[in-house]
Amino acid sequence: MSIYISGIGVSKGIAIGEAFVLAREQPDATQLTLPAGEINAEIKRFKKALAQANQQLHDIKNKIAKNTADDIIVFIDTHLLMLEDPAFNEGTISNIKEHSCNAEWALQMQGERLVQVFNEMEDPYLRTRKDDVLHVVKRIQSCLTGQEQISTGDDIYRGKIVVADDLTPADTIMMQHQKVAGFITEFGGPLSHTAILAKNLGIPAIVGLHHARQLIRRNETLVIDGFTGVVINSPDKKSLRYYRAVRRDDISKRNLLNDLSGKPAVTLDNRQITLHGNIDRPEDIRLIKKYDNTGIGLYRTEMLFIELNQWPDQKTHFKTYKRIIKALKGKPLTIRTMDLGADKEIQDTIAHGPMAHNPAMGLRAIRRCLKEPQDFMPQLLAILRASALGPVRIMIPMLTNIEEVDQVLALVEEAKQILRDKKVAFDEKVPVGAMIEVPAAALAADAFAKKLDFLSIGTNDLIQYTLAIDRIDDEVNYLFNPLHPAVLKLIHMTIEAGKKAGIPVSMCGEMASDTQYTRLLLGMGLEYFSVQANALLEIKHIIVNSTYKNLQSEVQSILQVYDNSEIKSRVQQLVNLL
Ligand code: PEP
Ligand code: MG
Repeated sequence: MSIYISGIGVSKGIAIGEAFVLAREQPDATQLTLPAGEINAEIKRFKKALAQANQQLHDIKNKIAKNTADDIIVFIDTHLLMLEDPAFNEGTISNIKEHSCNAEWALQMQGERLVQVFNEMEDPYLRTRKDDVLHVVKRIQSCLTGQEQISTGDDIYRGKIVVADDLTPADTIMMQHQKVAGFITEFGGPLSHTAILAKNLGIPAIVGLHHARQLIRRNETLVIDGFTGVVINSPDKKSLRYYRAVRRDDISKRNLLNDLSGKPAVTLDNRQITLHGNIDRPEDIRLIKKYDNTGIGLYRTEMLFIELNQWPDQKTHFKTYKRIIKALKGKPLTIRTMDLGADKEIQDTIAHGPMAHNPAMGLRAIRRCLKEPQDFMPQLLAILRASALGPVRIMIPMLTNIEEVDQVLALVEEAKQILRDKKVAFDEKVPVGAMIEVPAAALAADAFAKKLDFLSIGTNDLIQYTLAIDRIDDEVNYLFNPLHPAVLKLIHMTIEAGKKAGIPVSMCGEMASDTQYTRLLLGMGLEYFSVQANALLEIKHIIVNSTYKNLQSEVQSILQVYDNSEIKSRVQQLVNLL
């Protein structure tokens, strides 16, 4: 009998294969008290386990194909670095000495301490780094207890669907090398490293399927649907036939999408659309290039602040921008000035004063920069200097009042004068633009457009502020609705304001990355999309199969509708045209 179970689909695609259930037990980390005479021997045992874990990771690194991308190998390197990190090994050794205890427990304590540090981070991506700590702790503990790690030997995973409690990045990479068909894990969420890696490696994967190892037996046939998160255990003939057809369609669609890489995003009626990518770090350029050789419409520089845990100096800013510009080889780069505050915060600034009661509406982004212009100036100077190396635009987040626009422009002029006086090269015509992500800015977009060189719609915040819902609060997630008529009106007003002033308007919020809305946005007159790397080709596929002109009148009439289900169904009809 077929059984349907579901988890979280994190890597799209269909996999069909036999289950390979990894029945690993948690290593025993019970606390044992040791006599004083055994402490040195325990430390030695811990160091031996460290060396063994190090060897295992190097073995995996040596086994994977030489052409494996650097952004994949970096996951293993992170674990290797952790093994050498004093916070990890010295910390554990101190625990052994201080508590006269066994290495397993000392390591467990140290791991928990480090996990706590990551848990307290506001940024959801950085929070997932605690997974690395847990994976490294587990690897060393397995070495200590002599427990078997995942085999790196023969081709035992070829064509199989691996069902595990959790997989480390190293496991995932090694299994992909052996041509595993798919993964199911009991733990992990969409932001876990296994999920990100599976997506990058193109392996269908489902995470967060609790008790999967009890529900699935070894060698049972499984279908995993990475689109919906559904797993079918022992599928009947009819389901198998259906999923084989879906898999065939998916593969041919992917091939079709790959063919679009490097091609222009032009509609059927010859309207040229700009399609750029969003990045958070310089390393993300590789991912963009993996899909499409295009420019960057949003570089979120605050990640630089968060990773350094302080405001970077001009040199650090410049070095980072130079690296990106070099990698882009002449393609345009939009650098967004720092957007700290709300869910993105650093210790240094928290230390400056009490946490705001409502940080999303507090001294966030440009508000903070304008309050402390001496701290903002190094970033502006660095962006201007970078503009001499390639096409760069300066984008300001969270602008709300026209006075802020004037202040920003005055600061940019001041920075330019400093460089002129020092005879440092920069682009005199570097475009300065605003993110339109506060409803007030959208309503006043006409005035903004008169003073600025471009606008970019940040739907993540625009929706949050328009609908009064915290974008990271799960409780109100159900109210996050890009199709709310008020949101659509604000987007439309912004696009129209840009057109009237003759300046480009882009969209870099998540709405631009969602294929459900591409035709709606084209119909609103949007001609510049900046999207997540893995959405580039799917969005381009829709653009090249759309007729820009025909969409205008249809969308004009959708904009008159206030009933949400009608808007939804009419937007769906646009999608179905394909
Ligand atoms: C947005 O608000 O839509 C946006 C792109 O900025 P961020 O997600 O970084 O706030
Ligand atoms: Mg924003």
